[in-house]
Amino acid sequence: MKVKKNKRQRSEQIQQVSAGLRDVLGMTQWRKENPKATWAEIEAIVDERMNQLRAQVLQDVVQMGETEGWSQKPQEERPRCATCGKPLQARGEQTRYLQTTGGEAVKLTRTYGTCPQCGVGFFPPG
Ligand SMILES: [Zn+2]
Repeated sequence: MKVKKNKRQRSEQIQQVSAGLRDVLGMTQWRKENPKATWAEIEAIVDERMNQLRAQVLQDVVQMGETEGWSQKPQEERPRCATCGKPLQARGEQTRYLQTTGGEAVKLTRTYGTCPQCGVGFFPPG
């Protein structure tokens, strides 16, 4: 679901977020310490810090839908085997690392499941 906002609203919101981020990312302080920084230097440092933040946001958003996991759910609500349709058995959590386009690593924890019928292992989507 996309929520459409008009441009004015969005830019006001972005300005507020930007003002907060400048401090959170340490940019206000950095700028004071580097008053003669060039455009390229400023852009590089903003990119670097934004990429770290971006990775964290990505990780948090992805994990939001998965915090509960499905291991405690009743059989009929569990993910099913793609081959035979049996509800999967949870086999604990496994951690994977993904690389973002910003070059940061994102850590994902997902519940791993195996099929009691065919013994195949899955990371069910969602
Ligand atoms: Zn199966």
